[in-house]
Amino acid sequence: MHLKFNLSKKILSWYDNNKRSLPWRVSKNSPKKLYYRLLSEFMLQQTQVKTVIPYFNKFTKRFKTLKELSKCSEKEILKLWEGLGYYRRAKNLLTSSKLLVKEYKSKLPDEIKEIKKLPGVGDYTANALLGLVHNKPAIAVDGNVKRVFARLFNKQEVKINFEKFIRLNKKNLFNTKRNSDFVEALMEFGALICKPKDPKCSICNLNKTCKYFNSSNKVTNNKNKMIKNKNYDVFCYINKKKQIALTKTNNLGFLSEFNLPQIKETNSKDKKINWKFLKSYKNSISNLKLNINLYYKFSNKIPSTYNWYLLKNNKEFIPSFTKKIFKQVSTLF
Ligand code: SF4
Repeated sequence: MHLKFNLSKKILSWYDNNKRSLPWRVSKNSPKKLYYRLLSEFMLQQTQVKTVIPYFNKFTKRFKTLKELSKCSEKEILKLWEGLGYYRRAKNLLTSSKLLVKEYKSKLPDEIKEIKKLPGVGDYTANALLGLVHNKPAIAVDGNVKRVFARLFNKQEVKINFEKFIRLNKKNLFNTKRNSDFVEALMEFGALICKPKDPKCSICNLNKTCKYFNSSNKVTNNKNKMIKNKNYDVFCYINKKKQIALTKTNNLGFLSEFNLPQIKETNSKDKKINWKFLKSYKNSISNLKLNINLYYKFSNKIPSTYNWYLLKNNKEFIPSFTKKIFKQVSTLF
């Protein structure tokens, strides 16, 4: 798979005329560059641009610099992150910002293996930061970029070794002094032109050389997420003060480490003595489709691993999954 045309030149010329104005795109010499890029790259993992923008603005209003962010408490960062999901990102962002401030004097290391030492930073984010912050030749291979490369050769993504492809074509790909823009331009091109469904081939400036466009046998990459159905029983202790008891002792893959009522996979053999059924509803988290059966019990006595939380006006961080439980239980009052 050899590129036979100047891809960076074509993509950059498209980008210069079509790029979106996004709040983390600051000038190359801006002192905020590392902070804005780190924050946005963490937020953009698994999340769409339009969802991220208000959160990015909220964070940068509250914390003006990376140093300010690094001093924030875990409790506060989780509260600010509330609703954005994948909460481990917030914790990793905080730890990464502390490391950068303390160990690297608020600078990004310029070696990929050093950048990857930051928690929550894998190959993709490390390459994105290396290119975006240091203008080094790097390509952040996300879903958008994989799709563009695969379509240019009309191949299935799973059959391409992208690392090898980049190595083989590095002279062509990094034939620019604008590596930082190129990293971003490729992703932007995949998001806006070479879209997953209905790529805009007729206005694409790569269409003359694109094998997908010029082929009568177009290879498609259907990547429907495998949806897993799970059935859970949720048991809520509540009291007359409109409080609910939560614990961190649930051993669930999703939302582990967070405060939740007791949750168990539904088992018809389990006897639910003294628990009253409230309602059943559905909740989706990533590729999990959860069927929830909600039970409750008024009680002033709770196991020692639980604490009481107000159902309304709670100042603690509450993930959306738990908020939905709060909403259902509140109907009892
Ligand atoms: S011609 Fe179509 S498929 Fe090919 S790169 Fe452009 S948008 Fe993608």
